Amino acid sequence: MSRMILDGIHVIGGIGKGFAHFHQSPHYVQSHVALQPNSDASINITVERNRLQEALLKLRYESDCLVETADPISTSYEILNTYRSLAYDRGWERHLIHEINQGADVISALENVLSAMRQRFSKEAFWQSRLHEFDDLTNRLARYLVHSIPKKDIDLERPLVVIAPFLSPADLIDYHHHNLVALILSDNSYTSHVAIIAKSLQVPVIAGVDSMIHLIKENDFLIVDGNEGRIHIRPTPEDMTITVSSRKNKEIVRPSGSGGNDTKKPATTLDGHLIRLSINANLPEDLTDVHNDFIDGVGLFRTEVPFMMTNELPSVEGQVAFYKRILAQSGEKPLCFRTLDIGGDKVLSLHNGVQHIIDKRGKHAIHQASVNGWRAVRLSLDRPMLLRQQIRAFLRAKVQSEHPEVPLSIMIPMVAEITEFLAIRKIIQLEVNREKMLHHGIAPRIHFGAMIEIPSIVYQLEQLLPLVDFLSIGTNDLQQFFFAFDRDAPEMSNRFDFLAPSFLMFIKQIVQTVGQRVPLSLCGEVASQPLCALALLGIGIRHFSIAPSHIEGVYAMIKRVNLESLKTYMDAACQHLLSPAMFMHNGPITLRHRLMNFAVDHGIITS
Ligand code: PEP
Ligand code: MG
Repeated sequence: MSRMILDGIHVIGGIGKGFAHFHQSPHYVQSHVALQPNSDASINITVERNRLQEALLKLRYESDCLVETADPISTSYEILNTYRSLAYDRGWERHLIHEINQGADVISALENVLSAMRQRFSKEAFWQSRLHEFDDLTNRLARYLVHSIPKKDIDLERPLVVIAPFLSPADLIDYHHHNLVALILSDNSYTSHVAIIAKSLQVPVIAGVDSMIHLIKENDFLIVDGNEGRIHIRPTPEDMTITVSSRKNKEIVRPSGSGGNDTKKPATTLDGHLIRLSINANLPEDLTDVHNDFIDGVGLFRTEVPFMMTNELPSVEGQVAFYKRILAQSGEKPLCFRTLDIGGDKVLSLHNGVQHIIDKRGKHAIHQASVNGWRAVRLSLDRPMLLRQQIRAFLRAKVQSEHPEVPLSIMIPMVAEITEFLAIRKIIQLEVNREKMLHHGIAPRIHFGAMIEIPSIVYQLEQLLPLVDFLSIGTNDLQQFFFAFDRDAPEMSNRFDFLAPSFLMFIKQIVQTVGQRVPLSLCGEVASQPLCALALLGIGIRHFSIAPSHIEGVYAMIKRVNLESLKTYMDAACQHLLSPAMFMHNGPITLRHRLMNFAVDHGIITS
């Protein structure tokens, strides 16, 4: 078969070269029940019980190996440990044996036990999380039983490009342990939770090639170019030379460029302006580089990601231990915990009802959940216990940390109304009072901040500013609500340019209103693209929080900028592009084109 190229949607950048592997659908059991021989007359209880024992043995061995190869201080270790204990669950085994004793073959027994669990426990939040895990385990066990285990068919030493309509975080971590080099997904945008975790694991991701996926065969060699959103199937030797730096629009600035030995110093522009660079973190693994001198600290820790990965509600003690670990990693550097931002595609077991809807109806329900707006602070106010426990854990972790003198920063996501922020502050105060009453001690400095990611709050900044210690602009959400699109819809991912003058002027309005009154940062994913970060510098942003994989590229860009001339250029360009005369123009002159030319002409981004 000859070489082919598929163009899809870029989700997470980077290049992965490896062999195609189609991940088995999560509904593996159902689809394989049909393949089983008709059971009625031929069931031999002893044979079926032996098949079950043999498969369980393999499953347990597999989970032992996964745990043994995981780093004991990683989040993946905790998840895999949970899987291992479920694999050894005696109650589950007893139910399966009971079904076989009643005359079911082993695959039907698996399906029957799972459906019985679904019926009994679907309304209990705690058990829903267990169900999700048992679903996964059941499918793994079924793979052993039908003798077509994907992991058995593939060479685990080879680099793998996994193709899947949907991947659970646990599957992602599992593949990550087995030389995963890239992912091709159906319905994930770069802000979905699998994509966010993939970014933390530095795995390139592409979506939007569903209709042509049949052109790829299992074991085909692929180059997944996450920067271009392109898949090279059965590449030529010439294709094999593709590297990250070949990106068409040259947005990736190689850290080895002007960075070099210089990367130890804080980021200053050519004309001496200091720009703060912090890390966006989702997992402990993201904090590896936090002690580099040019990194200010952690501007955003998305606390929902570790919650999502375990698929269960961690206890207060569990959360304290986890946050202490994160604080220990950041040491004396500032770290900002964002309260749970769940809802939309960020689904937790405790997010009552929605998990169930998604299981039953797939991606449409995910999209529905993401547009109905029941997320983040709204959910926290409707389920205050969840927030109270999290705040309690933050407070305790800080007091018990090695640097209680470093302020505890807590940031509230998706604030649309001042009243929401006030309500959350009240809840936080309740927890502070409670800790005092219990003589647990309180961190001397607690900073409260809000994210600006809903346009309505921009028009209440005057009222909000006296209430906050800091603000952070979340452009991932702000852009979707500004232009009215769903950030999780791959069809919309290239529709509205972030560099639209209307949107940049909106951000500039925020920057000007906030002024020097409180520290302001920007933590949307877009700032990891040097050209977009350049535009943001030009309209006044001085503190970025960026995924660690992209921070050096932005650093290198900053070192080449003369801020004063950039500001002058941006002002003029935006005004010009917004002038009525421009709307009569038919040509594709966009700010992106112009700014790229400016950046190349001034040696900021190399062509
Ligand atoms: C944002 O919306 O820009 C943001 C940083 O938050 P999240 O991507 O987690 O919604
Ligand atoms: Mg957001």
